[in-house]
Amino acid sequence: MSYEFDDETGFETLAIRAGHERTNEGEHAEAIFPTSSYVFASAAEAAARFSGAEPGNIYSRFTNPTVRTFEKRLAALEGAERCLATSSGMAAITATFLGILKSGDHIISSSSIFGVTNVLMENFLKKLNIEVTYVDLVDNASWENAIQENTRILFLETPSNPLGDIADIRALADLAHDNDALLVVDNALCTPALQQPIKFGADIVIHSATKFIDGQGRCVGGAVLGTEAIVGTDVFAFLRTAGPTMSPFNAWVFLKGLETLKLRMDAHGVNALKIAKWLQQQPNVVKVHYCGLESHMQYRLAQKQQSGFGGIVSFEMKDKEAAWKVIDATKMLSITGNLGDTRTTITHPATTTHGRLTPELQVAAGIKEGLIRLSIGLEDIEDIKADLSLGFESV
Ligand SMILES: *Cc1c(COP(=O)(O)O)cnc(C)c1O
Repeated sequence: MSYEFDDETGFETLAIRAGHERTNEGEHAEAIFPTSSYVFASAAEAAARFSGAEPGNIYSRFTNPTVRTFEKRLAALEGAERCLATSSGMAAITATFLGILKSGDHIISSSSIFGVTNVLMENFLKKLNIEVTYVDLVDNASWENAIQENTRILFLETPSNPLGDIADIRALADLAHDNDALLVVDNALCTPALQQPIKFGADIVIHSATKFIDGQGRCVGGAVLGTEAIVGTDVFAFLRTAGPTMSPFNAWVFLKGLETLKLRMDAHGVNALKIAKWLQQQPNVVKVHYCGLESHMQYRLAQKQQSGFGGIVSFEMKDKEAAWKVIDATKMLSITGNLGDTRTTITHPATTTHGRLTPELQVAAGIKEGLIRLSIGLEDIEDIKADLSLGFESV
């Protein structure tokens, strides 16, 4: 007997059960298929598979049952027709750009994006004669003014990292569609547990599964989601050829991550809001950035688009020296560039994650010298506060 999912099936149910087709062994948990290729019953079957006349496994660069289970499950959660798993979040972004764009095209990007995405655009897309214009994430008029005849993609992250600025997904999707362009949203910080951009008109959703989807800091991976016509065709054509695909073992770890995603995202959000409010009361903190604070500029919009505010909180000390003192005085928090872990991490963006940005882009992205980013984990909240207090006492 197989259970059919429909539009009414709840998110938590899909996160646990979608995409799994049991083998003849009757395994309860999903199997891992560590195989590079597959055997065919006959030469004719091999030919039919390779030509695409018949569906089925061919070679694990582009067909693997464990990876497919992950893809189907994440597609169900994002409400997408098709999902392609990739070897990293950056591979997902690269495959999207190279699968869709050609020399002479133009993209508009928020200036508040993951630092490496920025390097990809500056050092590699521009080399292929793809033009990039950076705009202010929250200023819809600046997006509109940047539209050109050859604009093909509008690219953004919301909430932005590390400041938590919020883009109006619906408005920017409409702008993209009025101009024959696509809206691409990197949804790594919210995950589908908190935000489903396709519901608001986004064409493509990108993930770094390395972050909250794994959630426990183990594997690197990513995904591209969207329609069969674009993601299933153009982006897939690039991926199967270029090869930055996900390994079956990593897909299995991410499947386990998806099963607890909603619980974890809600718990990260509860801890993060408490820490953000607590930080506002600390004497040496100049400013706290968290989209779940009512004082946040786009609090309303965040409430409209998201079912929670996520785990990233950042705050400003007066300068770099004070920020480094706070970071160095903590004992439990992990000093690392990663985020989306059960363990709370602490980062100085200006000299690490955003250190490769040009000074102008650093300013545009609001990355001040005194800024500290926290990815709030799932430890006891009192222990997180106590550790940060060591930092504040040192200043
Ligand atoms: C980490 C991250 C990426 C890149 O993902 P990798 O898995 O490290 O390649 C892209 N976008 C965002 C928002 C990220 O946080």
